[in-house]
Amino acid sequence: MTSLPRPRPNQKKLGLVIDLDTCVGCQACATSCKEWNTQGYSAPLNDRQAYGASPEGTWLNRIHGYEVKAPGDDQSRIVHFPRSCLHCEEPACVTVCPTGASYKRAEDGIVLVNPETCIGCKLCSWACPYGAREYDYDHGVMKKCTLCIDRIYNENFAEEDRVPACVKACPTGARHFGDLGDAESKVSKLVAERQGYDLLPEMGYKPVNKYLPPRQRNKTTAGSSAPVESGGKTVMDEFFRWADRLLSR
Ligand code: SF4
Ligand code: SF4
Repeated sequence: MTSLPRPRPNQKKLGLVIDLDTCVGCQACATSCKEWNTQGYSAPLNDRQAYGASPEGTWLNRIHGYEVKAPGDDQSRIVHFPRSCLHCEEPACVTVCPTGASYKRAEDGIVLVNPETCIGCKLCSWACPYGAREYDYDHGVMKKCTLCIDRIYNENFAEEDRVPACVKACPTGARHFGDLGDAESKVSKLVAERQGYDLLPEMGYKPVNKYLPPRQRNKTTAGSSAPVESGGKTVMDEFFRWADRLLSR
């Protein structure tokens, strides 16, 4: 079994903040992720029957679309929900790993897999409640989001390009990258301002990535940054309960 690094004072926690209000489900982040990572750190990301009737393959970021209706609302809305590794602070995907192939970096909290020592036992994917691990059947190893570690520290890139490929590609600016361990960072302030959510907080994995709920869109509160509310519940309370149920299956 694999140990987690001891948290450091002012621990850096790199992660993503995903805005469910402005994500339009265009898949640009998923395809950009696939393109970058099929030639980079996780390379190659396999594809099976890519042009067949039932294409499958290794995708480190997947976008789901759900129709959500809050109690008492007369209209439903579509919420697009990008899903990838949340770089948890207490990830059982790491501690269950029998070889140390899954590990969490002490310096920035990124969770990675070493393909040289991964034996493809899949214990980590069973331990992850978010379905964020992707087994590469062609190579017999587990793969996952690396936060584009080969971009974010790449000094050959201009400063503005040192972000994960998904963040760079998003046409609506729905994806934000930064240090969630720093209360003064842009991402932390965004989470505080928009009431960012943890997924499945009751699992105790302490995901670093956060989701921002959709904002009110009706006339009376146009421009408000508050989540849509109805009958004392926000639409996202309902959505996250639903997403939690889905992830718990
Ligand atoms: Fe591990 Fe899943 Fe958390 Fe990523 S989301 S760190 S794969 S438990
Ligand atoms: Fe949503 Fe942005 Fe991804 Fe498009 S690129 S699916 S808008 S997060």
